[in-house]
Amino acid sequence: MTVHQSIDPDRISPNALKVIQRLEGEGFEAYLVGGGVRDLLLGNSPKDFDVSTDARPEEIRQLFRNSRIIGRRFRIVHVLFGREVIEVTTFRGHHPENTTSDPNKHARMSDSGRLLRDNIYGSLEEDALRRDFTVNALYYSPSSDRILDYCQGLKDLDNRTLRLIGEPTTRYREDPVRMLRAVRFSAKLDFSMSPDVELPFNELAPLLHDIPAARMFDEVLKLFMSGSALATYRELQRHQLFGFLFPASQRILRHEDPVSHHFIEAMLRNTDLRVRQNKPVTPAFLYGSILWPAVRQQTEALLKQGEPPVPARQQAGIATIEHQLQYTSIPRRFSTPMREIWELQARLENPRGAEQMLLLPRFRAAYDFLLLREEAGEDTGNMGAWWTQYQDADEEQRRSLVSGLKLTRPNKRKPRRKRRTPSRKLSDQAP
Ligand code: ATP
Ligand code: MG
Repeated sequence: MTVHQSIDPDRISPNALKVIQRLEGEGFEAYLVGGGVRDLLLGNSPKDFDVSTDARPEEIRQLFRNSRIIGRRFRIVHVLFGREVIEVTTFRGHHPENTTSDPNKHARMSDSGRLLRDNIYGSLEEDALRRDFTVNALYYSPSSDRILDYCQGLKDLDNRTLRLIGEPTTRYREDPVRMLRAVRFSAKLDFSMSPDVELPFNELAPLLHDIPAARMFDEVLKLFMSGSALATYRELQRHQLFGFLFPASQRILRHEDPVSHHFIEAMLRNTDLRVRQNKPVTPAFLYGSILWPAVRQQTEALLKQGEPPVPARQQAGIATIEHQLQYTSIPRRFSTPMREIWELQARLENPRGAEQMLLLPRFRAAYDFLLLREEAGEDTGNMGAWWTQYQDADEEQRRSLVSGLKLTRPNKRKPRRKRRTPSRKLSDQAP
């Protein structure tokens, strides 16, 4: 079914248009699809542009020098133009009845009905039916300036409704991440979910535990780093899905701990603001903040058991990350700075050598983190405000700020007679 509906070509990435033209020039069909079409029709700026074609991955790969095939579960081609990536997918088709034993391994299904592999190719119309939501299944052909709408996506776009294509339970079993995508799109687009979109959440959310941790890591970034983090978080909470992503933090939030609640909401509000201002947001800060309530609680528990403060904080950080890795991966390039931000909190609350601390690579992030903790009502001895003043102060003002501090000793212990090494972090553990 085709519908005349103009999309201003100036709003489409010239690189996406180039890819489509090239494919069509070689005799293939090619369309703009997914978020690009949806967002342009809504008058929003698309995050990226996806192209759908009947060319096979190898054929696409051969047409574009700057391209690579990625994914095993779902093979797609990335065509690279500097920093812009155009995702090109081959039309997907229906799966044969007995997908579990496909001899060619183009398709595979787990016992719960999850598609472990989805590389059966098909026609344009079949491709539309394999997409997740009707508003994501609109195809636009720039050469004929037409929209193809096989799933009544235009109607749902008009009514601002998110509707799954096909039978919801089956579609969630095939890919439980679609539940997270439902929440993400409804929050980001401010659409309401059609009732059968949310109905299965309760029963099927535990299937999220079967998703590989690396994919969950990526999904969490999409949930919280695309400008609607706070709305998305509230929707996740409303649908009781947040606990499937961050169980340790959720356990604390469930006990109506207002400080943790305010902290996470303040952080997400701030993240949205930064995205809007085109300021960088880092996964380390995001994950570090969401896990902070758990780190704080564990630290307190260890202190109660008599662990000295420095190792208590370190161990709490390590244990929290270790536990979270069962649910989402956290690449080391993010978990290391995360721990640095956490460990710097105590030093910022009790600064020795403030001048040098300003030079630490993680100072800025740790200071922002401290401000958020203060905003959420955590007791930091008002040191966020102190550091704000300190950074703006001249030398003399800095001296007076430092002399006004009431520093506490880092550890309760007997005075040492002789100083052996300047840093004895681990030996502090000794009784
Ligand atoms: P965004 O604005 O986040 O890019 P998007 O709709 O473009 O939103 P993508 O993840 O870029 O989402 O995927 C592109 C398109 O591929 C989707 O619009 C949808 O049609 C299809 N798609 C993506 N993930 C799935 C999935 N898990 N199941 C079914 N279809 C999917
Ligand atoms: Mg997209």
